[in-house]
Amino acid sequence: MTEVTKTVDYPVLIIGAGVAGMTVATELADSGIKAILVERQLTAGGNALDLYRAFPTDDCFYCFEGNRWRPGIRKCFYRSALIDQPNLDLRIGTTVHSISGRPGQFLVTLRSAPQYVDPKKCTLCGVCIEVSKAFSFPSPQCQPQCVVFNPALEDDRAKEAAQKCPTNAIDLDAKPREDSLTVSDIVIAAGYHEMKPSSIDEYGYGRIPDVVTQLEFAKILDPNGPSGGAVVRPSDGKPARRVMMVQCVGSRDENHYPYCSKICCVFALKHAVVAARERDCSQVLVVYMDIRTYDRHERYYREARESGVDFIRGRVSRVEAGKDGGVDVTVYDSLLDRYLRFSLDLLVLSSALEPAEGFSDLLKMVGLSASRGYVTPLDIATEEEVVVGAGVYACGAALGPAEVPESVTQARAVVMKILAGRR
Ligand SMILES: Cc1cc2nc3c(=O)[nH]c(=O)nc-3n(C[C@H](O)[C@H](O)[C@H](O)COP(=O)(O)OP(=O)(O)OC[C@H]3O[C@@H](n4cnc5c(N)ncnc54)[C@H](O)[C@@H]3O)c2cc1C
Ligand code: SF4
Ligand code: SF4
Repeated sequence: MTEVTKTVDYPVLIIGAGVAGMTVATELADSGIKAILVERQLTAGGNALDLYRAFPTDDCFYCFEGNRWRPGIRKCFYRSALIDQPNLDLRIGTTVHSISGRPGQFLVTLRSAPQYVDPKKCTLCGVCIEVSKAFSFPSPQCQPQCVVFNPALEDDRAKEAAQKCPTNAIDLDAKPREDSLTVSDIVIAAGYHEMKPSSIDEYGYGRIPDVVTQLEFAKILDPNGPSGGAVVRPSDGKPARRVMMVQCVGSRDENHYPYCSKICCVFALKHAVVAARERDCSQVLVVYMDIRTYDRHERYYREARESGVDFIRGRVSRVEAGKDGGVDVTVYDSLLDRYLRFSLDLLVLSSALEPAEGFSDLLKMVGLSASRGYVTPLDIATEEEVVVGAGVYACGAALGPAEVPESVTQARAVVMKILAGRR
C-alpha cells in the first residue's frame, strides 16, 4: 500500500452530501477537523430527502432515533451543523474536476455553479418567490434551508426580487467558481441512483403514465408531495385504488444489473403497508421472485400479510395502457402455472439501485476502479469495508445498495479511521 503522509493541517474532502457524507462531515467537524463537503445538487440530503417514511422506525427520515444499536440522524442536528459549524464548509452545486497528489496531500480542483442565493443570509421570508417564478423552495426538508434560483426560468421580475430581498441574499451576477486545494483524505459518499427502467420495454415505464418507480410512489404517498399524500393516478389525478408492485426490475437480471439491490423488497413492503392500511387502496398486490427482508425487516412482510396485501410469485409478462387510464397487466403465476390478468390504477416498479451518474469517472480520478459499478473495499479479508484506497474511504450507497442506518454506521467507521490516522 502507498505510504500515507501524515498531516493534521489539511482538511478532509467528502464527496456527496447524502446521509453518509453529511454524517462524516458533521462528525469530523465536531471533532475539530476541517471538512469540505461537496454536493453537486443545490440541496444536501441526497436520495433520503424523497423517502417520505423510512424503515426501520417509520419516521420521517430526518427524525430517525439515534441510539447505540441503530445509529441514525436528526433534522435539528443537521440544520444547525451544516451551516453553523465553523469547521464544516458545505459547497452545494459543486463537483470535483480533478484529483492528483498523494495520500495525505491530495491536490483537488472543485468547480462550483454560481451561488445565486447565500444560504447564510436567506431567512426564507418568501418575498422573492412571490415576485418571480425563477425562485423556489426545493422542499420543507431541504438543507440548507434556503430558496434556489433557476436561471432557466429567469423572468423580468427576477431583478426586482433581488432588490426586494430584505437580507441581500441574492446575487444574480454570481459567477461559476473554480478552487484548487489540498486535502489529507478523500471520502467517497456519492450514493446511488434509482434506475429509470424505460429500457425494459415490457413494463411500459416512460410510455404509460400510470407506471411509476418506488421513489416516485414515495412522492405520491408523501403528505408534502403534489397530491397531499392521496394515492392518485399520474395520468388523470383520479384516485388509485388498485395498485401492483413489481420486484427485481433491472436487478438480478444479466441484461441490466446481475446483483440483488438488497433493500427494494423492504421499501416495497413499507409502501404496500402504507397503501393498504392508511390510504384508500382496495387492492395491493406484490409480484415477486423472492421476498428478501434481510436483518430485522421481516416484520414488514408480516404487516403486509396482515394488512391484506396479496403476493404473486411469478413475473409480469405484459403491460398495456388501460382504456380509461390506468394499466392492464398480465402476470405469469409460477405457483399456479397460470396467466392472470389485472386492471389496475397504478403499477409501481421496484427498480434497481445503480451507481451515481459519473461514478466510474470519479473513481478513476483517485486511481480506483469499480466492481459491479460500485467501489470495493481495499482488503475484504480485514473487514475494513470503508477503506478503499490509501487515504481514500467510502461509505453508504457508494459501496452498494444500503439503508440509512447502515450508511450512517459506515460513515462513523470512516470518521474513526480518519481520527485514528491523526493520532
Ligand atoms: C424507494 C426507496 C425507498 C427507500 N426507503 C428507505 C427506508 O425506508 N429506510 C432506509 O434506511 N433507507 C431507505 N432507502 C435507502 C436510502 O435512500 C439510502 O440508504 C440513503 O439515501 C443512502 O445515503 P447515501 O448518502 O449513501 O447516498 P445518497 O442518498 O444517494 O446521497 C449521495 C449524494 O451524493 C451526491 N453526489 C453523487 N455524485 C456526486 C459527485 N460526483 N459530486 C458531488 N456530489 C455527488 C448526490 O447528489 C447525493 O446528494 C430507500 C431507497 C429507495 C430507492
Ligand atoms: S427574499 Fe431573500 S431572504 Fe427572502 S426567501 Fe428570498 S432569498 Fe431568502
Ligand atoms: S431486494 Fe428484493 S426486489 Fe430487490 S433485487 Fe433483491 S430480491 Fe429483488
